[in-house]
Amino acid sequence: MMASLIEHGIRSPAVLHAMAGVPREEFVLEGDRDRAYADRALPIDAEGQTISQPLMVALVVEALELHQGDRALDVGTGSGYQAAVMAACGAHVVSIERVGSLAASAAERLRRLDYDVEVVEGDGSLGVPERAPFDAIAVGAAAPRLPLELARQLVEGGRLVVPITDSPIGEELTRLRLVNGRWETESLGPCRFVPLIGADGYQEAGSS
Ligand code: SAM
Repeated sequence: MMASLIEHGIRSPAVLHAMAGVPREEFVLEGDRDRAYADRALPIDAEGQTISQPLMVALVVEALELHQGDRALDVGTGSGYQAAVMAACGAHVVSIERVGSLAASAAERLRRLDYDVEVVEGDGSLGVPERAPFDAIAVGAAAPRLPLELARQLVEGGRLVVPITDSPIGEELTRLRLVNGRWETESLGPCRFVPLIGADGYQEAGSS
């Protein structure tokens, strides 16, 4: 896995160190442990949620430009793997997950493995205003458009990395940075994520 990350351009020593240290086999289903280090997303429940591909986690975390002691928000906890990588980069992490069972199992796992991550259950499309502001925010699910409530929870100089579905190139990983009170956005390339379901995301299938 590490050779593949380096081959695909991951350069940050802190991110490479974190990716090498976080035990991905602890975050996948029991039956998938033997392929925990394959560069692919894997299922984490019966409803189609996944632990993201290691390369995508490394790209997102590198783009967050985390520093020791940063306050970071991870939207879409899933297994908790990306939150653990962010914590291993030195951040104090709040991670929010809308599916209660995933939030509970990730919280137990992250506590057992001793990562500095607080897991909250709820709709992260609106961020976590009571814990804001954040130096960095990562969104692990695709938003239809730039999630403004999340952008408003950044400090000056803060970074938001989010997949956005409705862009000229299709689904696009986007980094927004707050510079002198203004939002600057840049494309980090095409990507593929499950949808962000919530008030500033997509409607849940079957709801009206
Ligand atoms: N980064 C995670 C990991 O390392 O396992 C994987 C994230 S998974 C691809 C996307 C997650 O986002 C799912 O667990 C899904 O339930 C969650 N999600 C979708 N919409 C959400 C929302 N509005 N708020 C919080 N979580 C959300």
